[in-house]
Amino acid sequence: MAVLITDTCINCAACEPECPNQAIYEPGASWSMSEGTNVSGMVTLTDGREIDADEMQEPLSDDFFFIVPDKCTECKGFHDEEQCIVFCPVPDCIIPDPEREESEETLLARQQMLHG
Ligand code: SF4
Ligand code: SF4
Repeated sequence: MAVLITDTCINCAACEPECPNQAIYEPGASWSMSEGTNVSGMVTLTDGREIDADEMQEPLSDDFFFIVPDKCTECKGFHDEEQCIVFCPVPDCIIPDPEREESEETLLARQQMLHG
């Protein structure tokens, strides 16, 4: 499953540079699928929306750092552990998203989609 940042985040920014998929953004930042990945053209998100990979999207949080679920692979294909969790200084600030349970196969397929 993708992981999410909770409201215990202190906005320290330690996690952001550690993500191999550039899935982490600062509060209020616009994001795109193509940033930090090889994705181009139209892409269908897991919520069914079809977007241009280069088009900047609305921030998912104006208050805390946030993770774009469609770019999070739990670090599969790069690391054995979720690097954002490893580097976050606040215990249990970043947690598995209970709404997004995903198999290893799904996460690896996403990693291929992002970087293949
Ligand atoms: S688990 Fe890995 S891929 Fe997902 S947001 Fe954290 S660092 Fe990025
Ligand atoms: S490392 Fe943790 S506390 Fe710091 S910005 Fe990331 S989620 Fe927030």
